Amino acid sequence: MKLVFATHNSNKVKEIASLLPDNFQLLSLTDIQFDEEIAETADTLEGNSQLKAQTIYQKTGVACFADDTGLEVESLNNRPGVFSARYAGHHKSDEDNISKVLEEMENEANRNARFRTVITLIIDDIEHQFEGIVHGKLISEKKGQSGFGYDPIFVPENEKRTFGEMDLNEKNNFSHRARAFNSMISFLTHS
Ligand code: IMP
Repeated sequence: MKLVFATHNSNKVKEIASLLPDNFQLLSLTDIQFDEEIAETADTLEGNSQLKAQTIYQKTGVACFADDTGLEVESLNNRPGVFSARYAGHHKSDEDNISKVLEEMENEANRNARFRTVITLIIDDIEHQFEGIVHGKLISEKKGQSGFGYDPIFVPENEKRTFGEMDLNEKNNFSHRARAFNSMISFLTHS
């Protein structure tokens, strides 16, 4: 069965393909030659992943899924959340986004934060959503060169190092994205 992952990122596709049962053929947006920009205009992670999945499903009619992730900071009322990629502006700079969050938290004692991923899967016209969360704390200076986004300031629960100090395999063992994907894969495997 063909399944489209609404991403152009071939690394993400490889990672998920290796976890799927053999009867699934996973295709990226590049594989299906889908080059249009998909509007991410919703104000929740649920809404944006749904918008992306619906766009692909309506245009291709093929079963598909889309993910959306955000950093939710407790003392900032869960910001940047759905705006994580463009928190400091539409130029989408990780460096500037981190600086903005750290400035807003300058005198804040509560450093609790979490990464949350929401996946929307559409098969046979039915939508299913899956969630993955990693709780942790934000430190006040960047540490580590790996990963991307807010990884250098996020220390996951029960760890001493930031995601930015872990290699990709280590992070992927328990990341928010891995948890959401595992929950979708377990649904696909058992249904
Ligand atoms: P996306 O939904 O995967 O495109 O993620 C949106 C934004 O959230 C990214 O541009 C990053 O700023 C942030 N983000 C998502 N996943 C991660 C992660 O695993 N580590 C750090 N930041 C992330």
